[in-house]
Amino acid sequence: MMPTVVVHPRAVERARRGHPWIYRSDVVEVGARAGDLVRVLGPNGRAVGEALYSDRSQIALRLLVRGERHADRDWLRERLQAAIALRRGLGIEATAYRLVHAEGDLLPSLVVDRYGDVLVVQALSQGMDRRLGEVVELLAEELAPAGILARNDARVRALEGLERKVEVLRGEVPPRLVVRDRDVEYEVDLRQGQKTGLFLDQRENRWAAARYAHGRLLDCFSYDGGFALQLARRCDEALAVDISPEAAARIERNAARNAIGNLLVHVANAFDFLREAERRGERFDTIVLDPPAFAKTRAALGKALGGYKEINLRALKLLAPGGVLVTCSCSYHVSEAQLLEVVRAAAVDAHAALSLVEKRVQSPDHPVLLGVPETDYLKCLILRKL
Ligand code: SAH
Repeated sequence: MMPTVVVHPRAVERARRGHPWIYRSDVVEVGARAGDLVRVLGPNGRAVGEALYSDRSQIALRLLVRGERHADRDWLRERLQAAIALRRGLGIEATAYRLVHAEGDLLPSLVVDRYGDVLVVQALSQGMDRRLGEVVELLAEELAPAGILARNDARVRALEGLERKVEVLRGEVPPRLVVRDRDVEYEVDLRQGQKTGLFLDQRENRWAAARYAHGRLLDCFSYDGGFALQLARRCDEALAVDISPEAAARIERNAARNAIGNLLVHVANAFDFLREAERRGERFDTIVLDPPAFAKTRAALGKALGGYKEINLRALKLLAPGGVLVTCSCSYHVSEAQLLEVVRAAAVDAHAALSLVEKRVQSPDHPVLLGVPETDYLKCLILRKL
């Protein structure tokens, strides 16, 4: 007999509208243990579907299938095949991209990224953690990768009461490997790099930004140079600023590897750097702002908006007329409308007239699932100073 969980009518309605999460407050009766695959029942005993149960997270249930269907091995294989087929169809001009984007691919709490012939997986719930072995077997059958690494060190695993660890699950995974993204090669440290190694969700925003890049470039919050390396060849000179010395060292190695000779790297707090650059009267023609999520929770929204305003205001003051600002937010709690409003207010303070050239989201290998606002997190605005 399969374990069951009975939920409140509110949860049934939410599931009907397409959201896969059921919160603990909507759980009525639990006949399951941590990480079980469970049958979810409405108060009338009608099947809502099958879900992964967590005894820790506020997200008590993650629905895998609806109605009478079973979330068995065949289902898992089908979902993985559909996710892989979607990426093949995109014809991505890069050897690193996301193969499985969790909820966005109807595989809640599972992330799979491809870096050349190596796969990196993340299981972000108790239930997905338990099925990770099965996922790895199926991925090996479908893709025959040289190695599969689990980057199971994400902080959310602690909320699930899961161990945080990085381990090779199959084959071999080199300490560093090189991937290609259009005409740029990036060195990646899969075990220690942020996320699974690179910020894959910005790939096509970098390509878009490259169309407008010119003159003197400033890439703030550059990490290992995602934007700077794509844009530097189109610019006279480029400066990348990040607070992390390890990231800065990787940008320098990446610049050398790509024979990009006009890229300088500066280790600094971007807030301080922007303030001092303004004091020195510096000018840039292209500025990229891609900060970490300032609003990690809704409670932090007010302060976060202040942070976005400050960096955008300073950037607009540093931007030459005709210059381009690429400004991003990966805070789910900050909407596109709020980011636009922040930039508008900053433009007023900077006495700048701005035109909006592009409103962008995450790359299409990170699909947004309609009805699941949490999958829609990345905003990237491209603006021109008139
Ligand atoms: N633009 C990058 C991704 C940036 S991620 C890309 O395209 O790949 C955010 C980066 O901001 C991280 O590398 C982090 O080290 C850096 N960071 C965080 N706080 C910072 C600060 N106050 N000043 C400068 N860099 C900061």
